[in-house]
Amino acid sequence: MIEGTSVFDWFALVISLIVVLSIYLRKAYRGIENRVFLGVVLIGLFTTVFELISDGILAVTPLTRTTQGIVYLALYGYFINRQMSVISYIMLAFSASGTTYRMKELKNRILFTGPFFLLSVFIITNFFHRQIFNISMTEGYVRGPLMFIVFGFSMVYGTIGLLYLFTVRKYLGTTKWVAMMLLFISIAFSVVVQYYHPTYRIEMLSAALAVLILHLIVQRSEDLMDQTTGLYAWQLYQEETRRLMLAEKQVSIFVVRFLNATEVRIAYTEDRYNAYIKEKAELMKKIMGKRIKDYKIYIHSSGSMHLVVGKKNFDFETETPELLSLFTDDIAYDGFGQRLRPLMCSIEYMRDFHNPADLIQFGLFFPQFMKPNQTFIRASDVVHEKNYEIQKNIPKIISRGLRDNNFEMYYQPIYDVKKKCFHSAEALIRLNDEEYGFLSPGIFIPAAERQNMIFPIGNFVLEEVFEFVGRDDFERLGLTYIELNLSVDQFLHENLHKQIAQLETRIRTKPERINLEVTESVAGISSTIGRMNIEMLRKRGYSFSLDDYGTGYSNIQRAMSLPLSLIKIDKSLVDEVETKNGAVIIENTIQMMHEVGFQIVCEGVETANQYRILEAMGCDYIQGYYFAKPMSKADFVRFLIVENHCEK
Ligand code: C2E
Ligand code: MG
Ligand code: MG
Repeated sequence: MIEGTSVFDWFALVISLIVVLSIYLRKAYRGIENRVFLGVVLIGLFTTVFELISDGILAVTPLTRTTQGIVYLALYGYFINRQMSVISYIMLAFSASGTTYRMKELKNRILFTGPFFLLSVFIITNFFHRQIFNISMTEGYVRGPLMFIVFGFSMVYGTIGLLYLFTVRKYLGTTKWVAMMLLFISIAFSVVVQYYHPTYRIEMLSAALAVLILHLIVQRSEDLMDQTTGLYAWQLYQEETRRLMLAEKQVSIFVVRFLNATEVRIAYTEDRYNAYIKEKAELMKKIMGKRIKDYKIYIHSSGSMHLVVGKKNFDFETETPELLSLFTDDIAYDGFGQRLRPLMCSIEYMRDFHNPADLIQFGLFFPQFMKPNQTFIRASDVVHEKNYEIQKNIPKIISRGLRDNNFEMYYQPIYDVKKKCFHSAEALIRLNDEEYGFLSPGIFIPAAERQNMIFPIGNFVLEEVFEFVGRDDFERLGLTYIELNLSVDQFLHENLHKQIAQLETRIRTKPERINLEVTESVAGISSTIGRMNIEMLRKRGYSFSLDDYGTGYSNIQRAMSLPLSLIKIDKSLVDEVETKNGAVIIENTIQMMHEVGFQIVCEGVETANQYRILEAMGCDYIQGYYFAKPMSKADFVRFLIVENHCEK
């Protein structure tokens, strides 16, 4: 064996070093899978180094006592590392297939590592029995009669690994599986070769090559771990959920979604947000670590964390109440955490949902199913409801609504407090679906925005409302303008002003008859296109108002920098007008807005008392069920003819 060429080992060494360097440069050492992979590479590297040392010294026989001692040490290092590398390949099969949790059971661990320890002891005691190998001063390295045990061990473990790969085939995906098979097959092949032809030192080279292939094809480190938080990346969550479906394994999932993530990140910087997420993730790990070993946390860049627990029916609300209070009683960074508006849900995957698409969609959109003050929801409470069914089918519902003309514009009269009559109205879209009946725009408008279907709806609204304000009797009905809701995408589309200009010429309407409503979140977006749309349309004579003032995260400063004429105070704030604090806030808001030249609409006024208070506070216009609900065009016109008698 001694005369064997070391050239293969030198290649193996160079390749392993390149892989280590590449892992370091790509920062591919975070997360269990990456760490196991690094272990595989390093163990292979050490094995090669030990083999090179022993070969190098053995090349010059006869040996001295010192060189003999060094060769012994190097060979022990070599054999033990070699056994470890076989184990590390199997570990890789476990971690790459996401089944590492199976190793966490003590029984499996003993079964798995026990023989390895026994063999290590056997190798070390070779020092006394010399049955595996011997180093003689004159002949150098001589194999002992029990060497076959060492090689046999590699073969047995290698075969176990190979068989295991077959059982986890569906977890791995084809590329990964083929690459892993390649690793095992090439190593098995070279072990056999090296056993019968000890001079062909190809074992380490073939291992290094297989590892290189795995590194290049399979390990996409940058995508695997989120670089800033160190959590598992979203892509992995998608893979994991697919894997779980194929394996029909039931797990419990806990999702935290930060509703205001986008706005808060713009206002408070990305760094601060990331620091917050990182800190919360650490605390989550602490809480979970006490309960269960098999869990993983994934992050989604739009502002959510998904915790997957490898156990079914894990009840987060009762088993880990600290987890829920981590976000509800959050006082981190002076209320920064609360500003993000965290909402939570728990899901039993493969029971509540049976495929990744439904699961992922729910994980992102569950806040829609929550009641106003709710912060935690179970998917099981929702998935059997009609509402969920509708959400899921919204693309279908919207397209058939457009096809079959199921959309209709309603108008809600707005009362002029000074003139004591209705001077305008808000146009509100309605959808009557053949299967689900009447659907609230609060549901289908956000859904249409997400599914890229808002433009056909927006165009319908524009057509209808322009048609309405183009009526000859518009002013005779006592109307000044109609308020029209613009969605974010419409507002940010560069064609909006052109489209409106075309409508205006085609239908021959006056721009003063239209008031365009934008929401705070729209107004908060510092977009050149949005700004251009506003400026072009203002120049033509259109006016703008700020809708939903007082909801969510206000970036009032940015909103105020836009040329608006009306501010619409949201119902949620108006609801507080009878409380002491609410009254102070609303009264001051009205006064402040008047001072800077805006007029005020109070939305959602339902009672005479609310009306009286708001009138006394100087609110200019009132919109609400107290005066009138939204109604069809025909009803609205009739309503105006019968009810509208302005005091001149
Ligand atoms: P919004 O623009 O803030 O419209 C006001 C909402 O408050 C309307 O709900 C209206 O029916 C409701 N409302 C008015 N007064 C009262 C009241 O006294 N009590 C109660 N409980 N509610 C009152 P609606 O029609 O369901 O619309 C919800 C949201 O959907 C609208 O909020 C708006 O954001 C969106 N939306 C409606 N129509 C359109 C549209 O044509 N285009 C776009 N882009 N969005 C629309
Ligand atoms: Mg509105
Ligand atoms: Mg509103």
